[in-house]
Amino acid sequence: MTKKRVLITGAAGFLGSHLCDRFIKEGYFVMGMDNLITGDLRNIEHLFGNPDFVFYNHDVSKFVHVPGELDYILHFASPASPIDYLRIPIQTLKVGSLGIHHLLGLAKAKNARLLIASTSEVYGDPLVHPQNEDYWGNVNPVGPRGVYDEAKRFQEAMTMAYHTYHGLETRIVRIFNTYGPRMRLNDGRVLPAFIGQALRGEDLTAFGDGTQTRSFCYVDDLVEGIYRLLLSDYAQPVNIGNPNEITINQFAEEIIKLTGTNQKVIYKPLPTDDPKQRKPDVTRAKTLLNWEPKVSREEGLKLTYDYFKSLPPERWNEEPYGRDFKK
Ligand code: UDP
Repeated sequence: MTKKRVLITGAAGFLGSHLCDRFIKEGYFVMGMDNLITGDLRNIEHLFGNPDFVFYNHDVSKFVHVPGELDYILHFASPASPIDYLRIPIQTLKVGSLGIHHLLGLAKAKNARLLIASTSEVYGDPLVHPQNEDYWGNVNPVGPRGVYDEAKRFQEAMTMAYHTYHGLETRIVRIFNTYGPRMRLNDGRVLPAFIGQALRGEDLTAFGDGTQTRSFCYVDDLVEGIYRLLLSDYAQPVNIGNPNEITINQFAEEIIKLTGTNQKVIYKPLPTDDPKQRKPDVTRAKTLLNWEPKVSREEGLKLTYDYFKSLPPERWNEEPYGRDFKK
């Protein structure tokens, strides 16, 4: 039997690389694509030489073509951390707009099903709590997060238009804060920031007064939800995340306990438009996909910390924005 063929954009990133692993494990032929602006080939090095994997170094904001048949496309290419999309705002907008248009065109030409990585950021600084998929959001289009939030909102609209007007098979996952091995230690997000600080013996930087909340999902749970959604027949958006909500202060205490660091928490200014609270309502995923998160934060944080600790210490000190970053 011929293998199903899947194109994964953002393949060298945190989520993309875990998706490549999962689809190879499930018996697919995987085409990974990335322009390495924030991705890192070390995340998929182990797949090179595997006959079921091929890698294309390409920017999906430009015309995209891949040879042969295609069954599925997963669009995961995008800067995804606040400091990344502040630093590379135009690329962030382009990958969510021009990029998705190219991939939708490719999906239409190849008669492939396309799943897009959307985000809890479509809800902005939410006025509804917890957030369910029917909430339209509270986004500032011209704030620093606007480049990411609006690109992702446009991406959803474009995807839905291809579904409605061209009958294309599409899926939309709204991803809430996710963590695990292969995050970039220096990407500025709270978990790699805190673990990196603990490893380097620095104080942990909480932004604002640390009372804002987030709900953290372990990467394996997220990948399972995405896999189920792709194979489902549901075209409306689906939240995938862990509803277990904590404050950033509590999170810092957990990291201090886990790492055994004797550093303390210090407070820095809260970034503009930083959402005050975030927690997914995952009723839809439970009902439609029979999915719910399985990995506790205690377990997930330990796996993640063990991964970062096992890296050569020089990687704890790498410059932000990846080695290949050009302005
Ligand atoms: N945060 C923090 N210290 C850091 C990095 C982030 O207190 O060193 C806070 C940030 O202000 C936000 C939360 O942690 O309220 C989660 O931030 P992250 O960048 O991980 O993602 P977001 O959910 O804001 O997109």
